[in-house]
Amino acid sequence: MNQQTLSSPENANWNYPTDILFGVGRVNELSAICNNKQIRNPLLVTDFGLANFDFIKDIKTSLKDSNLNCEVFCEVKNNPNGQNIAKGVIAYNAGGHDGVIAIGGGSALDAGKAIALMVGQSHSIWDFEDIGDNWLKVNERNMAPVIAIPTTAGTGSEVGRASVIVDEEKHLKKIIFHPNMLPATVILDPRLTQDLPPHLTAATGLDAFVHCLEAYCAPGYHPMAEGIAIQAMTLIKTWLPIAFENGSDLDARGHMLTASCMGATAFQKGLGGVHALAHPLGAIFDKHHGLLNAIILPFVLIKNRLAIEDKMTNLCAFLSIDVEVKQSGFDAFLNWLMDFRTSFGIPNSLSEIGIEEKEMKRIGEMAFADPSAQGNPISLSPEEYAEIFSCAVKGDLQFGRESSRSKGK
Ligand SMILES: [Zn+2]
Repeated sequence: MNQQTLSSPENANWNYPTDILFGVGRVNELSAICNNKQIRNPLLVTDFGLANFDFIKDIKTSLKDSNLNCEVFCEVKNNPNGQNIAKGVIAYNAGGHDGVIAIGGGSALDAGKAIALMVGQSHSIWDFEDIGDNWLKVNERNMAPVIAIPTTAGTGSEVGRASVIVDEEKHLKKIIFHPNMLPATVILDPRLTQDLPPHLTAATGLDAFVHCLEAYCAPGYHPMAEGIAIQAMTLIKTWLPIAFENGSDLDARGHMLTASCMGATAFQKGLGGVHALAHPLGAIFDKHHGLLNAIILPFVLIKNRLAIEDKMTNLCAFLSIDVEVKQSGFDAFLNWLMDFRTSFGIPNSLSEIGIEEKEMKRIGEMAFADPSAQGNPISLSPEEYAEIFSCAVKGDLQFGRESSRSKGK
């Protein structure tokens, strides 16, 4: 199907994977949702940079007009840390709040979800890291309800059951998980994303693309996740360039919000080596998560090549990427991807964003230990992750190509 022929998205209500209200202006229904959920005094968790934006003030006014009490908590770093969450829990309890409205980019949504998890727990947040059965330690009844409203289209955190929080003492990004961290209600209002500048539109949109691609390539039987991932990639291929060129195109913004949501729904199947590397790099160098993913992606694909050749050939058909005679589907996809990335001004190497080739060994070990690594199509050693990191710093796309050529493609 030609995505360009899809009509403009209109209002829609979905309850997969949670309740989702989609449509321009639907943030105006927030007071009604709070009333419905019997939330009378929400804590509004947002990014520091958004707290003074007009739409936050408008939301506060409309909640107050509906006799709802509301306070704003915005001490949330770009990569939210344990201290941010602890302060949010103090604010929640001090204000006698009874629910969380998380509004903003992935950082605000992750922070809001983690605060809602932690408001009634006796354990440390790190006891709920996504390892084994840790989530069973959570006192579920004390978790606060969350309404999530993304203002970027990338992380899909609004439909995720986990938050990525930095353990500042250990300089580690940790995934905090409980199935009930999935927000009860999500509002996807394209208008809230239209002021996102082009470079962030690109970085977040490509993060969503990587979620889909890693989920699609992750091993395991999950045709539902793969179908969602493929359709979201077709949306991103068509609409990200339009959202990048013209941020006020609400059709494009709407499709990107939906694709972002779909990416996070799909990656319940698994992520992979790109995220396994981006998590430690984000924790150590404090760079934008989507930008890191966008730069690292081709290097991980090349390393995984032999395991994903057939999937890439199929993907070219799904995404209408031309494969020339005697060209492998993998090479056709990689060439398209490099052009797609360049069209948004994404650099070819990590060195171009100030990341040097240091701490290779540590980064390799951290990537190997990252839970996302379990979704990679092949098992990579710490040394192999260190090698991918080294090539990504230099922008050396030739590595690993010899072995793939020897397959005679
Ligand atoms: Zn991501």
